[in-house]
Amino acid sequence: MALNTLFDNTQTAFKLKSDSELERAYFLFKMISKEPLVKIGTVATKVALNLNLPVEGLIRSTVFDHFCGGVNEKDCMGVVDNLYSAKVSSVLDYSVEGKQENAQFDATMQKVLELTEFAKNKDAMPFSVFKPTGFGRFEIWRKLSENEPLTTQEKGEWRSIQDRYETVCKTAHSCDISLLIDGEESWMQDAADDLCQAMMAKYNTEKAIVFNTLQCYRWDRLDYLKEQHAKAVAGNYKLGFKVVRGAYMEKENTRAQEKGYPTPICESKQATDTHFNAVMEYILDNLEDISLFIGTHNEESSYMALEILKIQSSTKKRHQSMVWTIIWHERSYKLQSSCSRLQCCKIHSFWTCKGCYALFNS
Ligand SMILES: Cc1cc2nc3c(=O)[nH]c(=O)nc-3n(C[C@H](O)[C@H](O)[C@H](O)COP(=O)(O)OP(=O)(O)OC[C@H]3O[C@@H](n4cnc5c(N)ncnc54)[C@H](O)[C@@H]3O)c2cc1C
Repeated sequence: MALNTLFDNTQTAFKLKSDSELERAYFLFKMISKEPLVKIGTVATKVALNLNLPVEGLIRSTVFDHFCGGVNEKDCMGVVDNLYSAKVSSVLDYSVEGKQENAQFDATMQKVLELTEFAKNKDAMPFSVFKPTGFGRFEIWRKLSENEPLTTQEKGEWRSIQDRYETVCKTAHSCDISLLIDGEESWMQDAADDLCQAMMAKYNTEKAIVFNTLQCYRWDRLDYLKEQHAKAVAGNYKLGFKVVRGAYMEKENTRAQEKGYPTPICESKQATDTHFNAVMEYILDNLEDISLFIGTHNEESSYMALEILKIQSSTKKRHQSMVWTIIWHERSYKLQSSCSRLQCCKIHSFWTCKGCYALFNS
């Protein structure tokens, strides 16, 4: 099959879905495209749940089952196994934001540890994931990134953050599960990058266990990547990177404007796309040193990665790295999205199931 028709093949895209599941998904999308119905439905659901009316079964068999992997890790396994039968792997993503207390950060770490242990020896779940601000206060990250001194209490908090990183990275290493660490706002990211680099130097000596994130809407990321590459070669360790475009563009531009510094964001969508593809290409050219996880829904970038890998495999270029991509067909947004939604569920208030498709695993 020609690569540029890969995402048009509905037979492959809907392979895991029965006709009745597709019809239900189609019906669901038709319903949620009607705004008044969504508003009424949301209010009615809240009222019914508050009155303890028996609506959970109905929710579960409609909206929930469509958008969510399950209510806990065990509950997700049906979806995970089903996806894996089509070589689509999953990441269970425990997502909490805006916490401020040490006990909450410890609880998040415990969940990440549980999910990492749970993923051990499960081929369908090769990754675990967390956010830096899930392990410590945003303000600590910001102060360190902007070279502001920490108070005595904050120094203690920083040591706790370092200990949490150490604990999860060590566990991921012993479970042989790769660990994706999310990228966040640029004004806290330097400290997160430095800590992540220290973890890579310690735990990526044989292969990439710890993965940092490169947000390619930031115009400085290719230079940063090259700098990290040189350090890793000199220090004899591997790099792992999740490559994304970035989720905080408006926030970044607004803050830069308010505080009067040049925006860290590329000047246009085209510039971001070019930069994303350049970062991806650099890593694909250096897979002997850097493992790649491509977090994109963009078809052009996905095709580009596939093309490069195809050429590399035909020229018998050998490497030990992994390349993963999120495939999400966005062009037609009706039935097509119903399938891809399940593969890459975005609802974070439940255990979610993010699918990724193993492109290459030599
Ligand atoms: C598995 C996975 C993990 C992720 N992890 C992270 C993470 O750790 N951190 C994070 O920040 N995001 C993360 N994301 C979100 C990701 O950044 C967004 O999905 C992404 O920005 C959407 O872009 P896209 O590559 O899918 O393609 P597209 O839809 O082609 O690109 C949209 C993106 O382009 C950029 N853009 C749009 N307009 C402009 C403009 N005018 N100028 C400059 N740039 C522009 C923005 O980044 C925008 O989000 C993750 C996504 C996935 C699927």
